[in-house]
Amino acid sequence: MADRDGYIWFDGQLVPWREATVHGLTHSLHYGMGAFEGERAYATPRGAAIFRLTEHTRRLFNSAKILQMDMPYTEAEINAATKKVIRANQLQSAYIRPLLFYGAEGMGLSAKGLKVHVLIAAWTWGSYLGQEALERGIRVKVSSYSRHHVNIHLCKAKATGNYMNSMLAQREAAHGGYDEALLLDREGYVAEGSGENVFMVRNGTLYTPTLTSALEGITRDTILGFARDAGIPLVEKQLTRDEFYIADEAFFTGTAAEVTPIRELDNRSIGNGRRGPITEALQSRYFDTVTGRRDDHPEWLHYTD
Ligand code: PMP
Repeated sequence: MADRDGYIWFDGQLVPWREATVHGLTHSLHYGMGAFEGERAYATPRGAAIFRLTEHTRRLFNSAKILQMDMPYTEAEINAATKKVIRANQLQSAYIRPLLFYGAEGMGLSAKGLKVHVLIAAWTWGSYLGQEALERGIRVKVSSYSRHHVNIHLCKAKATGNYMNSMLAQREAAHGGYDEALLLDREGYVAEGSGENVFMVRNGTLYTPTLTSALEGITRDTILGFARDAGIPLVEKQLTRDEFYIADEAFFTGTAAEVTPIRELDNRSIGNGRRGPITEALQSRYFDTVTGRRDDHPEWLHYTD
């Protein structure tokens, strides 16, 4: 990732990609306190557009607030910088990674007086779980790791340290031959994937877990809006793993994973083991919206020129 051409916005300036480096005593590297975002720009008929940029930037600022990290820029500055990164790298479609972290000015847990650094990188990144996954769906295993208890890690922050839990779960699933993990909360209810929110469909109703131990996903919010528009009955509640076993359809949502059908959970086929009709309808509306083929939400597309 480090050895490539391009530019990264780093503390207010565009820096050549290979020079966007940090010192080994960078505080966030040691204790894992930092925050980030994952955003996507898509090629549209009017040029590259960042999907729901302002909501992602808002969530980054909310993460900083939760973690009590002083953000040295305004939301407007970060929005403008994000667009600048897309332009500077001449990208049409991209994954975008803003990151907020403490510098190397001192050690110790208080992080007092440390500089808060911000960088924004962007690069071309295809579908996270593979193109085939979007059509055929993926095989998922309930993780032996629990999702964070709300008083251990704060799940409304997209905090760097939270992702150690995600990595452990993802690796365990991959080593077992599965595509992704589904994590339960400390009470045993379904929380989310390692980097995705989760939905299921049963008898025409769309269900998704309440957000106690899960990130407030922006894709989740997008899909909930589509379901409301389409008149699909919608229930947000605590869900158990066996409710998913007997669901007609299930899928993950996330900026990276987009809308990925789940065809199997814990070696049980979900529905007929293929992408279901409601999943397919929501997924195609998602792709039509992000790529500007539908313009019923123009406020979600942030053009970069
Ligand atoms: N949960 C977790 C743990 C995630 O990392 C992500 C990806 N940011 C999501 C859910 C989905 O969030 P979004 O739709 O905003 O990308």
